[in-house]
Amino acid sequence: MDTPAPTLCFTCGLAVEETPRLNRLTNGEICPACRDRVLDMLPAPLPSRPGEVRAGTMGLASDAPLKS
Ligand SMILES: [Zn+2]
Repeated sequence: MDTPAPTLCFTCGLAVEETPRLNRLTNGEICPACRDRVLDMLPAPLPSRPGEVRAGTMGLASDAPLKS
């Protein structure tokens, strides 16, 4: 499931950490695959992360007045 084994970038062969960083190829150029990974990790304007539940919205429903 969550194996601690490091993930290796298939382009530059360097380890990809949980927080991606710009790895460099042997010729000094920034690895494009790692660069894309870093760009993907940048804060997105849309809440697209699964499992990230917003706290605070739960109480709204219970505040609604129930009239019978
Ligand atoms: Zn890479």
